[in-house]
Amino acid sequence: MVNWQRGVMRVMRIANHPVRVVAVHDFTPWYRRITFSAPAFVRQLEAFPTAWLRLWVPHPSRGDGHLSQRGYTLVDVCPDAGTFGLDFVLHEVEGPAGDWARTAAVGDEREVSITPSRPGIPDGTERVVLAGDVTALPAINSWVQALPADVQVSVSIEDGHADVVDLPRAGRDRLQWHWITPEGDRGGALAAHLATAERAGPGVYAWAAGEKSLVKAVRPVLRETLALDRAHQFTQFYWIHGRATG
Ligand SMILES: Cc1cc2nc3c(=O)[nH]c(=O)nc-3n(C[C@H](O)[C@H](O)[C@H](O)COP(=O)(O)OP(=O)(O)OC[C@H]3O[C@@H](n4cnc5c(N)ncnc54)[C@H](O)[C@@H]3O)c2cc1C
Repeated sequence: MVNWQRGVMRVMRIANHPVRVVAVHDFTPWYRRITFSAPAFVRQLEAFPTAWLRLWVPHPSRGDGHLSQRGYTLVDVCPDAGTFGLDFVLHEVEGPAGDWARTAAVGDEREVSITPSRPGIPDGTERVVLAGDVTALPAINSWVQALPADVQVSVSIEDGHADVVDLPRAGRDRLQWHWITPEGDRGGALAAHLATAERAGPGVYAWAAGEKSLVKAVRPVLRETLALDRAHQFTQFYWIHGRATG
């Protein structure tokens, strides 16, 4: 099968960078951090909240040697060591990125590419509401680490695992974490929580990401209940239940 994703990236002159696995760490049986060494790539990296890259992974069901790209958020970028991490939700349904991450080992070599798209929060932001599922946890941690100290931060993540306490969680003052147990339709419990726990008002900015129907459930709360206009909120689908990326 024609590898159109690689072709498009070539036409757009988006470079691929070689990376090598130097560590694999499991926070839980289903959430794994893989650390990569890539000194030249890390040297030119501009790390900002939610920064993500495309990881090229083998996709054998599309043919021998076929590579597909999947989005993952940069974590733990260490310019001095020339390393960065990616946190993988090891989902049960087959998918080339999840499958690769499940068997990744020190010494494995892959390629990544990056198309920076920096989020901006409006001047005068006093409270930031961060929401999503566990695929958004790396991006949420990057927000928590980067936001100015005087901004209040409220994190709400919908997830039903019993061991969420073992997940990596950035810390700071003026921060609240809420783990929301799923109930009914995906995103329903998260939306209900946000509608009661958060207040509309000047100085509020909201960011949400995760599975498509979860994000769709959250959007009306941001738009209507919290009355946030486009400049004061950003949402993104990270994956779609029952559908492979690309
Ligand atoms: C900007 C951006 C940043 C992202 N950052 C991260 C990150 O840091 N960590 C992370 O884990 N993911 C992240 N994601 C989501 C990740 O790219 C998707 O989950 C992706 O679909 C995984 O690829 P795959 O090859 O494993 O599965 P695919 O081939 O895309 O899908 C195969 C099947 O697996 C299902 N599936 C995919 N992901 C999940 C999941 N998480 N849980 C349950 N079922 C799933 C699909 O619905 C489909 O049925 C990010 C996505 C974007 C767009």
